[in-house]
Amino acid sequence: MTTLCDAAGSFPEPLEDAFPDAGNTGRWPMHVHCHLVRTPTRTVLVDAGVGPEWAPAGEWFGRPGRLPEELAALGVDPSEITDVILTHLHPDHIGWVVADEDAPKPYFANARHVVQNAELKWLRDSGEEYEELYESHIKPLMDAQLLVEVTGAATLDERLDLVLAPGHTPGHQCLLVDAPDRPLLITGDAFVHRGQMTSAGLAYRYEEGTEDAAKTRRRLLSVAAERGVLLAPCHLDEGVVLVESASEDSFRTTAMARCPNTVA
Ligand SMILES: [Zn+2]
Ligand SMILES: [Zn+2]
Repeated sequence: MTTLCDAAGSFPEPLEDAFPDAGNTGRWPMHVHCHLVRTPTRTVLVDAGVGPEWAPAGEWFGRPGRLPEELAALGVDPSEITDVILTHLHPDHIGWVVADEDAPKPYFANARHVVQNAELKWLRDSGEEYEELYESHIKPLMDAQLLVEVTGAATLDERLDLVLAPGHTPGHQCLLVDAPDRPLLITGDAFVHRGQMTSAGLAYRYEEGTEDAAKTRRRLLSVAAERGVLLAPCHLDEGVVLVESASEDSFRTTAMARCPNTVA
């Protein structure tokens, strides 16, 4: 698994607004990572970043993403991607799925884009808030017959399994990778800040389901601690994290890898 840093910047609101109970204030430096997983048969991208400057999240985050350069540096052409796993459909995770602002078409033209059915339903039912995003970033995938809906846990190949992890959004999912050394879980936005990795109950203001999100974090952290599964979060500068249990709701974490890009 390789971490690709699409963008590094600051969350547009102060920390105390996003995490009222965190007890921390000020700036929240935030990375937007995508993950590349290669198996003998597949080249899989997990999440598609903030996207180019015209994408909704590019504007929101205050800077465009650089995923195409990151892929090029690894010698991966967008046409080689076989699967794009969408952990969820927030704009900062689907920015690069389409190319061309005026006539959007799939950027990863040969990839099936895998999303949970519950997530798609949630986006459709969100009304005006995500109507434009649906038209510009989801419909072109459907028109090209590249959007694949799954329900709950699913196996992609012998090394890759989708794990339902609802709360941040209703159909949020993670990808479990049976890596040769030890298993690794790419966690999307199940954890958006490192505080949620040490304290599972720490609520993020923009979670769709606060209780479900905390339950999901508790489950993922417990499994990670018990079975030695490494976690790869999206928005932390820690690219890969080792988890140990401290008490029922609190955990100790150790960064196993850090993003080389610093937040200016
Ligand atoms: Zn999100
Ligand atoms: Zn996010």
